This record gives sequence, structure tokens and C-alpha cells, in this order.
Amino acid sequence: MKSAPSLTLGLASSAILALTLSACGGGDGGGGGGFVPVAVAPPQTSTPADPAPAGQTPSTPDDPVAEAPDDSFDTYYNVCRGTDPKCYNDWGAFASTPDRVLIYSRTAGPRHANLGTPMGTGLNPTMNPDNVMQAGLVRMLKDAGITADWTEDVSVLGSRINNYKAVIFASSNRDTLWNGAVTTSQDAARTALRNYMRRGGGFVGLHNAFGAEYNWPYYEGLLGNANFYNHGPNRAGDVEIVADDPSTADLPKRFTFQDEWYNLAPFPTKVKFIAKVDTSTLKPLTSAPHPGHADFHPVAWCQYYDGGRAWLTTLGHNDHSFTANSTGPGADVFQKLVVQGVKSAMGLTPFCTTP
Ligand SMILES: [Zn+2]
Repeated sequence: MKSAPSLTLGLASSAILALTLSACGGGDGGGGGGFVPVAVAPPQTSTPADPAPAGQTPSTPDDPVAEAPDDSFDTYYNVCRGTDPKCYNDWGAFASTPDRVLIYSRTAGPRHANLGTPMGTGLNPTMNPDNVMQAGLVRMLKDAGITADWTEDVSVLGSRINNYKAVIFASSNRDTLWNGAVTTSQDAARTALRNYMRRGGGFVGLHNAFGAEYNWPYYEGLLGNANFYNHGPNRAGDVEIVADDPSTADLPKRFTFQDEWYNLAPFPTKVKFIAKVDTSTLKPLTSAPHPGHADFHPVAWCQYYDGGRAWLTTLGHNDHSFTANSTGPGADVFQKLVVQGVKSAMGLTPFCTTP
């Protein structure tokens, strides 16, 4: 109320204050004495917020959050994600899209040796003999009837991504979606990737794709609320398939492989785990400090994310993991896993199925 000022005026003036308040219309609108009140009506005289008429319920738009019977909506990333197909936007956006994928290997930081010499701009630039990972992906996908294009040009990714049933981030890293040379459109590729996922696209992240866009939370969510933390020595270990999935069809349940066995922080959530490394075969366990997932150390998983599909593996460090007729341990099995993962992300086979 308006009595507060009287505290500053002192007791002696309290009577005067009372008169002043009355003259200002600060009372209840009662008699003002000789003044002709020119309707000092308070501005908020209308009835506030009329209640809804009886018998009517205010209509509200469909709210996927409110309707979600489970926790598929991730309020941190503000997306629907997990293994429930309801998180897939089945809009038919790729119904007439050819069976093509785009391999994206632009590095904006340390470059893996198996990516070789940086490529030129544009779509399908000339490959160098040392572009082992990219050439290996093209070859193994071609053998599966899938045409692969490739680029290290962020503007090509941003402008062409919707032409593909899947995009493969092949150890593309750091600010891979930011073209610092084009300051007026630095978020164009991020926007394109986000909308691509929302229209039902497929994302495949390989190895140092866990090492990209660290400061874009949406991307970390795309990886499964997971990220690279550190890694141990590049050495052999046993991979165990931990779930039946179209991407693991006809694979041995256990095979020896060689990699760096990325340690993860944050640890993936809401995903379907596909494969792990048997940490008892890694000696020493890893470099310190270790995030603490020694007993269950996943190396591949999948999820629906913001309307699209995401299939992910932290494996793929070595040249011999991608070469034809490789003598690298487990390379043939790994290549089959990747191809089948790509096919599922494209929608050519069921995706990330639940038991
Ligand atoms: Zn590596």
C-alpha cells in the first residue's frame, strides 16, 4: 500500500500525509471533499482474464512433449531422441532419393593420417593416393550397391545434404561445420544439418567425428549425448557385439580389432548399444585419467535424433581398417559393420531395432 512513505516523514507529519493521500485519490475512491473527481479511474478496471465459458475447454495445439508416454523427449537438447521410432519424422522426404550418401571428411583441426592430404573444394574432388579412409568407404559402399559422393567443402555439405539418404562424417573434426572464410554464413551448414535430421535424414559418425563441434550442444546430442574424452594407445582388443541389429547381421559376436578405443565423456544415454570393447583385453586399460566406464565400454550405438537416424562408432583410426583385402585384425568385420550401419541409417534396412 502507500503507507510506506510515511515512515520517512516521521510521526509529526502523519496527519498531513493522511490528507495528502486522500487528495491524490489514493484511498478507496470515497468522498474527496470539494474536489470534482474527473474519474480518476484506475486503468485496470476491466475484469481481468475472464474465465473460459462454462462447458468449453480452451483448445491447445498438439503437444508432443505432453503426449509422450515416456522420456523420449530430451529437454536438454530439445529433441525427441532414443530408440522409439516415434522420434523419426517419417515424412517421406527421401522417397525418391537415390541410394546415395555423402562422405564428409573436412578437418578443422588435427587430421587423421588415414584421411591423407586435404582435398580441394567442390563435390568429388580428385582423390589423392593417401585418402585411404574416404576411398575405402567409397569402395565398400559401392560393393553394397550404394553410390558415394565425397567432399571436404562445408558449402557443398550445406547446399547438397538433402540429396542424400545419409551423410557420413568420416573423422571430420573440430569446427568442421564452420567456414571461417565466409563470415556471413558461418552457421549455414549447422542449420542445414539440423534441418536434414528433422526431415528424416541419416547421420553416420565415424571415429573422430567424436572430436567435432565440441561447443555445439545439438551435435553432442546427435552423437548420443556422448563425446570423445581421451584415448589409450593404438592397439589390439576384442570387440563384442552386444545386440542384434540390422547393422550387426551375420557378424561374429566377437572379433579382434585394432584402435584407440575412445573413452567417452559424457557417456551415451538413451541409445541402443551395438558393440563394446572387452576391456579385459586392453592392457594397460587406458591413459589416465579414465572417465570410469571400464566394465562397459561401448564402441558403437544408434539412436533416432530430432526426426532422423544416427548410427555411430568411435572406431576407425587406422589405415588398414578401410583398405581392401586388409590384413589388419578384424578389418573385414569392421567394414561390414560400417556398411550395414550406413544402410540402416539410409533406411534401406530396419534401423536401430528394439528386441
Ligand atoms: Zn584416431
